[in-house]
Amino acid sequence: MIDNVRVRFAPSPTGPLHMGGVRTALFNYLFAKKNNGTFVLRIEDTDQTRYVENAEEYIIHSLEWCKIPFDEGPNKNEKFGPYRQSERKDLYKKYIEILVAKGWAYYAFDTAEELDAHRKDHEQKGKTFIYNWHNRLKLKNSLALTAAETQQKIAAGEKHVIRFKTPQDEVLKLQDEIRGEITIDTNTLDDKVLFKSDGMPTYHLANIVDDHLMEISHVIRGEEWLPSLPLHVLLYRAFEWEAPKFAHLPLILKPVGKGKLSKRDGDKLGFPVFPLAYTNPVSNEVSRGYKEDGYFSEAFVNMLALLGWNPGTEQELFSLEELTKAFDLKRVSKAGAKFSPDKTKWFNEQYLQQKEDTALAVLFSESLVEKGIHKESSYVEKVVSLVKERASFVNDFWDLSSFFFENPTAFDAKAVKKQWKETTPDLMGELIGVLREIENFESKNIEEIVKSWITSKEVGFGKVMQPLRLSLVGALKGPHLFDIIEMIGKESAVARIQYAIDTL
Ligand code: GLU
Repeated sequence: MIDNVRVRFAPSPTGPLHMGGVRTALFNYLFAKKNNGTFVLRIEDTDQTRYVENAEEYIIHSLEWCKIPFDEGPNKNEKFGPYRQSERKDLYKKYIEILVAKGWAYYAFDTAEELDAHRKDHEQKGKTFIYNWHNRLKLKNSLALTAAETQQKIAAGEKHVIRFKTPQDEVLKLQDEIRGEITIDTNTLDDKVLFKSDGMPTYHLANIVDDHLMEISHVIRGEEWLPSLPLHVLLYRAFEWEAPKFAHLPLILKPVGKGKLSKRDGDKLGFPVFPLAYTNPVSNEVSRGYKEDGYFSEAFVNMLALLGWNPGTEQELFSLEELTKAFDLKRVSKAGAKFSPDKTKWFNEQYLQQKEDTALAVLFSESLVEKGIHKESSYVEKVVSLVKERASFVNDFWDLSSFFFENPTAFDAKAVKKQWKETTPDLMGELIGVLREIENFESKNIEEIVKSWITSKEVGFGKVMQPLRLSLVGALKGPHLFDIIEMIGKESAVARIQYAIDTL
């Protein structure tokens, strides 16, 4: 067990939370719980241009649905609050001034057009423009200007940003809990903007200041942030703060081929990429969610846990408690993890099969009520027990069992052609008589009587059983036929056979 673990999930509220984000939250949660630590939610909303109004709410609902609640965050146990960066603006200003005073950051007055011109100019020469040690003194910043000139510009309200002064000619040795040592030459880094002209910090500054002030011990985040690691480590050095430990989680890859699973892939490839359905507040466009697609959150979470982490055993099914016990950053892989929609379905099926019939019946009843069908719970439970093994989702139940609730009105044409012969109506008519006579209307008894009648008729079982199934179900599917007959009862069975005789 590691002492004093404090981790954070720090999403930017720019839209719905991608399942990769949920996995980051999950791994942070598991790591915190395993070590008796604290899981913090921090909303990184410094980029006003990308802010989406319902995104924070969506993020919080998603964590709730996944049952991975945060210990500290907006409106909850605000020990280190506020937890929204937009509410911490003044803080960042204070800290950027410290960096400027220490000589680790400088004012830059280059306009967007000027920087663009530099970029184009470099491109034409087949080079890339980086703002750093090799050209800083030729650009418009406080390092190139005199102190008086700089002050004058600031006083005149000239637009400016504050950049980090990356050290020159140094080889940084960075540690990542998953990737080990990473070396990087500081000469390849650019002087990133830390403070924007709109008075807001950039992600880098706000992130480091907050991780420090919130006493974060481990930064666990997606691989896409790995390129920011050198700057972040340098920022800790500049502030003379102890850096947390870092762990960059592997990418989640598309099911086929290479490449990161993106927000757009869901629509293109036909599966959800978001935990909950999401309505874009501007376009009203709706994106699918795992919840609404009928997944159990336990199955979704179990699937996510194994995207990039493995327990080192063959075990695949884990409850959240089991995950908390088994989870270890050392078993997180560097290589990207391929997402599989089929495997996700498989997980749901496993959880569905494990669930009690009573619990499933409650869920199924909700959809029955929506259809205007009200049946006693014992009946629904029995239906569930009969069709469950063929279902992956509660949503599958209706297709597998509608004939338990309503008479078929249409018949599978192919099956009719094959099974409904000229002699069938007579046989079915006679069968109605046989059924009417049965007093003990239990599956076993009905089966015995009907089968001995078939034997006495010398017609072969298929000749009766198939048209009978067709009459009762509307197709050649469904569980044991005599269980169906018992369940729907004598009157309904007889009526259905009569209807088939009349219409086919
Ligand atoms: N706000 C960043 C994001 O949206 C956080 C990255 C980090 O965890 O440092 O993912």
